[in-house]
Amino acid sequence: MVKLVIFGPPGSGKGTYASRLKERLNVEVISTGDIFREMIKTGTSLGESVREYVEKGLLVPDEITFNVLKENLAKIPKGKGFILDGYPRTVWQAQALDRIAKIDAVIHLIVPDWIIVKRLSSRRICQNCGAIYNLLFLKPKNDMICDKCGGPLYQRSDDTPEVVRKRIEVYEKQTQPLLAYYRDKNVPFVEVKCEKLETPPEVIVEEILAGLKKLNLA
Ligand code: AMP
Repeated sequence: MVKLVIFGPPGSGKGTYASRLKERLNVEVISTGDIFREMIKTGTSLGESVREYVEKGLLVPDEITFNVLKENLAKIPKGKGFILDGYPRTVWQAQALDRIAKIDAVIHLIVPDWIIVKRLSSRRICQNCGAIYNLLFLKPKNDMICDKCGGPLYQRSDDTPEVVRKRIEVYEKQTQPLLAYYRDKNVPFVEVKCEKLETPPEVIVEEILAGLKKLNLA
C-alpha cells in the first residue's frame, strides 16, 4: 500500500501521469484541484467560496483544503494506497497530512516554464469524464470531442496565459519550500526531468515507475 505525493508546476503533467500510475500501482488518485472544480460546478456555498480563489489562481485556504482532503482520503478502500496530486501546496498542509498519513515517497517533476505555458494553452479536458488532452501532442481523434466517452472538450478558465503566470508564481513561492520540508524529513524523492515538449506521457510514467522500483515501492 503505497502513499505518494506528486509535485510539479501547473501543467507539468501531474494529472496525466497520476491517472496512468493509478492503474499501474493500483492506487487512488486524489486531486484537490479536480475536487474543487467539481465543488464549484455543484454551486453549493462552499463551492462558491472556493470559486473566488480558484478563478484567480490563488490557493484555497488551508483549513478548507485539508478538510476536503480528509473527507476524500476516508473514502479510499482499506488496504489501497494513494497519490496526492495538488496537495500539499503549503507547509501547513504537509504538517496536517503528516498527522494522518505517512508519505512513502515524493515524485518531483521538473519542467521549464516555456513548456508549461505552451502545454497549458493547448490543454483541453472532457466535460463529461475529465480525460485530459493536448492539442499539440495528445490530440483527440475528433476536434473537441472526447475519444473515451464522446463528451465535449473544454479549456479550463484558469489555463489562460495571465492566470497561468500567476499559478506559476504561486507554485514557486509557496510550494518549493515543501520540497525542503520532505527532504528534511528524509522522505525519498523520485525526480524526473521533462525537457522536451513532445516527450510522450508513457516515457515519463516508466521513469517514475523505475524510480519507485528502486525504492521497492512498485
Ligand atoms: P490544480 O488543478 O492542482 O492546478 O488546482 C487548481 C486550483 O485549485 C489552484 O490554482 C488552487 O486555486 C486550487 N487548489 C488545488 N489544490 C489546492 C491546495 N492543496 N491548496 C490550496 N488550493 C488548491
